[in-house]
Amino acid sequence: MSLLDKFERYPLTFGQTPIEHLPRLSAALGGKVQVYAKRDDCNSGLAMGGNKLRKLEYIVPDALRAGADTLVSIGGVQSNHTRMVAATAAKIGMKCVVIQEKWVPHYDAVYDRVGNILLTRLMGADSRLVDDGFDIGIRKSWQDAIQSVIDAGGKPYPIPAGASVHKLGGLGYVGFAEEVARQEAEFGFTFDYIIVCVVTGSTQAGMIVGFAAQNRADRVVIGIDASGTPEQTRAQVRRIVDDTAALVELGRAVREDEIVINPDYAYPAYGIPSQATNDAIRLAARTEAMITDPVYEGKSMQGLIDLTRKGFFPEGSKILYAHLGGAPAINGYSYYYKDDGGAAKGGLDDALPPLFP
Ligand code: PLP
Repeated sequence: MSLLDKFERYPLTFGQTPIEHLPRLSAALGGKVQVYAKRDDCNSGLAMGGNKLRKLEYIVPDALRAGADTLVSIGGVQSNHTRMVAATAAKIGMKCVVIQEKWVPHYDAVYDRVGNILLTRLMGADSRLVDDGFDIGIRKSWQDAIQSVIDAGGKPYPIPAGASVHKLGGLGYVGFAEEVARQEAEFGFTFDYIIVCVVTGSTQAGMIVGFAAQNRADRVVIGIDASGTPEQTRAQVRRIVDDTAALVELGRAVREDEIVINPDYAYPAYGIPSQATNDAIRLAARTEAMITDPVYEGKSMQGLIDLTRKGFFPEGSKILYAHLGGAPAINGYSYYYKDDGGAAKGGLDDALPPLFP
């Protein structure tokens, strides 16, 4: 029995994602806890996959029912979400308009030509660059784009940033929680902590609802904020938790203490990695060849590493890192890593020149 049985799902992913033990990363962190990763970054053959596809699987049937012909969404210049909406539109044979706002004060020369935006354009989406700054809320630029499709005689289907405040946006990660429980039964052990990056909120919110149904007080989902606006993100997670719990008929209220968001790793700003973020990205790459990005997963990896080194997790804990994708964005940040690699430069504590002194 699944909380999702009554919802239609349009398959965009391969199905259950693997959980991988990360023994060299665990050892590099002192070996007192064991780290695993659930590889949602490898969840699909659609344009390199990632967390948005789990959400979009429950949104596409609604778009088809509505008779829409154009998916309209929004994100930053290097948005993974707009890449995934473009991929979904291509796969289901719809048109796609995506607004790409200037959410990140980052000036790598090819930032608006490589990685996510390159793939988005390649898949035929009408990608419109807009100068507005970071905000996870509802944006005028997106509403204007929806209107522009109507004005041109099209039938838009609006998908908000991160597919998060969409009425069905929380469902995909309810499924993640159910999958983890099935995999735990196969493994014969359970995870004590789940680490997940949070920005627009529906990934963590869906997980919280899914895990809440399992009523396991000993499991904690820790959101690592990468937005830099954690109050707004927390409020959005709370709202999506409540809406999703009602939708799936969870049957109980989710307590405030079940929503855990750590704001300590988002600095200096959304989309800008700190030295510690980049060192976390290097450590995961050099121990496990697991590629994380400077905007999202690098920050949750930084949180995982720092909390482990500080002794936050009791000895013997099993920690599940939710890898949500996002690697294409690293192409827009090549300056940070141009001197990496080679025997002389292998140290993780090498000082890097600051990009903006
Ligand atoms: N990780 C990656 C790779 C993402 O693209 C996103 C999207 O925003 C997140 C984490 C955060 O997920 P959410 O926006 O659902 O909080």
